[in-house]
Amino acid sequence: MLLLRKRRNVKEGPNFFIWSTMIVGSVFDFLVLWLYACLQAPKETDKQISGMVEESVKLAKVFCENKWPVLAFLDSHHPDKPEHPYPPHCLIGTEESELVPALQRLEKETNVTIRRKDCINGFLGSIEKDGSNVFVDWVGTNKIKVILVVGICTDICVLDFVATALSARNRGFLAPLEDVVVYSRGCATYDIPSHVAKSNNEVVAHPQELMHHIGLYMAKGRGAKIAWEVLVGPHEKP
Ligand SMILES: [Zn+2]
Repeated sequence: MLLLRKRRNVKEGPNFFIWSTMIVGSVFDFLVLWLYACLQAPKETDKQISGMVEESVKLAKVFCENKWPVLAFLDSHHPDKPEHPYPPHCLIGTEESELVPALQRLEKETNVTIRRKDCINGFLGSIEKDGSNVFVDWVGTNKIKVILVVGICTDICVLDFVATALSARNRGFLAPLEDVVVYSRGCATYDIPSHVAKSNNEVVAHPQELMHHIGLYMAKGRGAKIAWEVLVGPHEKP
């Protein structure tokens, strides 16, 4: 069982909120912007991104040990199909389009579905040529009621996916899904400080902490639940 704990907030009273719903699914959303972060962030260790990977690895271990369903999105682009407005990224066959090394074990796990997509939005990137949707089918087949979302970037791919999934749920396309939870410390975004942007006309400032916060804020506004901590209880099978 996983317990999701919300961060203590003065406005919401002194007691933290413990949400004890059994989690039966997880989405790991690792995209190209991971690489952007590595290239454009300062060379010193980026705590937010390494923290995101660390938390994702912990969750992956628990989910795989329990054989709980995991869906991992991997950005993969054909070189001839650019994704406007982003520069070429995650080209098929390159290291950029693979899981980070610490998570590559997921590829061998039977509970893990890998979805390669050529779109920032994992929901839209799950649409097959025949109109079916890998994510929608994954939710239905596994009877998933709650998804726990981690990955990068909080304000881009995570937010797009979460907002779309919530709209689809509201319209009745995602039964039996009830809740979308974003694990704040399991998400990260990249950093382009304003002083870097000022000296380079090719890039737009993207302050990491602020944009991470905005991503979570927007997701919460769309109806997602934001968990600050995920506690692992006895390993009961759902
Ligand atoms: Zn992409």
